[in-house]
Amino acid sequence: MMKGCVYKGPLQSMQFLELDKYKKRVFQVLLALTIVSGTVFVFFNYQRGQSALALIEMAIVILSVGLMIRVNKIRNREKFLRIALVYLTFFLSVMMFAFSVEGVSITVFVWALGIPLISYLLLGVETGFIMTAIFYSLTASLFYRGFHAHVSMVDSIAYANFIACAFVFWGISHSYEHSNRFAKDRLNQLAVFDHLTGLYNRSMVTKLFTKAIESPNTHQQQISVISFDLDHFKNINDQYGHAIGDEVLQRFSQVLMEQIPAESSAFRMGGEEFVVILPTSNEAKANNLAEKIRKAIEQDLIISGLPKAFYVSVSVGVITDWVKSANLNSMLKAADQRLYQAKQQGRNVVVSHG
Ligand code: GH3
Ligand code: MG
Ligand code: MG
Repeated sequence: MMKGCVYKGPLQSMQFLELDKYKKRVFQVLLALTIVSGTVFVFFNYQRGQSALALIEMAIVILSVGLMIRVNKIRNREKFLRIALVYLTFFLSVMMFAFSVEGVSITVFVWALGIPLISYLLLGVETGFIMTAIFYSLTASLFYRGFHAHVSMVDSIAYANFIACAFVFWGISHSYEHSNRFAKDRLNQLAVFDHLTGLYNRSMVTKLFTKAIESPNTHQQQISVISFDLDHFKNINDQYGHAIGDEVLQRFSQVLMEQIPAESSAFRMGGEEFVVILPTSNEAKANNLAEKIRKAIEQDLIISGLPKAFYVSVSVGVITDWVKSANLNSMLKAADQRLYQAKQQGRNVVVSHG
């Protein structure tokens, strides 16, 4: 399978879309809660004489205010996840510290039930799982350390209820985040790829063209846009039906994928119109590739529902420009003009000169 051309799973598509924006909201809610509750706890603990705890809580409140101001500006998903991980580790460590304070109320441990919820919502399935496992274990050992000598304080039913509740919260958070990720991957896939052919859809052209011209390979100082339009495609639909027409589109896309080099990208622009963006070393290479694809379609496109003598053909327009001065819209326009000339010349030809 060629690089950068077809859907290969969730990871590839994840880099294109920001469907994780809700994590920012979760982070902001967490920060707001921290600021409000932290301020209350600062006063409360200071009055109780727990000044060390109050000081740490004050530091968290200040850090949270700083992050609250900056969080919306974070564009990079990885960077956001790193910051959220550091913050949550800090946040939960403070929670553990509070659990370990001498004479702490047994009811404080109820806060531990929130650990899976925030960990999964903020950091996703894998990191959420690890954070929950670590901080649940710490909570259990702190609870044991604080109360094992006073068994009478904890009746066994309440104890069992709490543990059961903790695992239910963990299970729900895990399955929610898991199915949420599945849905996001599916949405990503629908937004990026054409469902019939598996090629990129039209919305990805600008993104991938920009990517290609922003990081040109030293051997690829030029870039080509190749436009394809299947010939008399309406006739195929009319004569043999829409399903056969769909199969032609799929087979054409397969041939396209087999022929284009790894660094290029193929798009279905709509209907029976396709575009290939090809970073290339020179004009001749792009024209040869277009010609190779045209021939492959003319010779090899065998569709089970079509008579053997039926040939599918494609008309092609090619334009090549220097990466430094390349402009997508004008290149698409020029490629389409050449494609139009190919149709006028009788179809099943490549036009590469204006
Ligand atoms: P030309 O050689 O001039 O390009 O003629 P053409 O018949 O290929 O062009 P025209 O634009 O007249 O027809 C395109 C047809 O493509 C019309 C439409 O029904 C068909 N089409 C568009 N999308 C799909 C699709 O997803 N599946 C199928 N089977 N047909 C489609
Ligand atoms: Mg057309
Ligand atoms: Mg056509």
